[in-house]
Amino acid sequence: MNIVLLGPPGVGKGTAAKLLSEKFKLPSIGTGDLLRAEIAKESGLGRRAQHYVDSGQLVPDELVTEMVKARLLQDDAKKGYFLDGYPRTTEQAKALKEFTTTDKVLNFVAPKKTIIERIRGRGEGRADDAPEVILRRINVYEEKTQPLIDFYRNERLLFDIDSTMNVDGVMKQCIEVLSEE
Ligand code: AMP
Repeated sequence: MNIVLLGPPGVGKGTAAKLLSEKFKLPSIGTGDLLRAEIAKESGLGRRAQHYVDSGQLVPDELVTEMVKARLLQDDAKKGYFLDGYPRTTEQAKALKEFTTTDKVLNFVAPKKTIIERIRGRGEGRADDAPEVILRRINVYEEKTQPLIDFYRNERLLFDIDSTMNVDGVMKQCIEVLSEE
């Protein structure tokens, strides 16, 4: 079961990905988490990605795609995964399609006001949660990632999740979608 989670920053897809991972015993793969780990390690990739991540811009497609490809080839991802934060551009969606199949895309939806409030309220201390960077990330989402909604709708893979609900409500919708044939 190869599942993609789509949605703006702060919409709750990271939380859902982790809970779904526990429930379905499949890895949750967050590209933001992977990039932050590379940055912390000061690896070559981390050094190249840092400026983009800190300033709320997208890391170039080639770098992220290589990283995701390598991660999806690991043993634990053979039976499936929850991919959180990739693809984020049409180029990435096309690349993903070339190297693996996607079974369903969960599209997390909430009003902009709600997601801004959620990011402001989170206590992870991420540098890119600073108020001016939040707005940049939301703009980047609207410009670069939102077109993927149509991309996946055309592929008949898209399922909307009302993310204004609490965690239980969101999980219930996700589980329902994932249980359908
Ligand atoms: P996230 O934790 O998903 O909000 O990601 C944090 C940051 O990592 C983003 O603002 C981007 O700078 C970078 N990032 C994560 N995933 C991708 C991706 N698929 N393509 C490009 N940049 C990404």
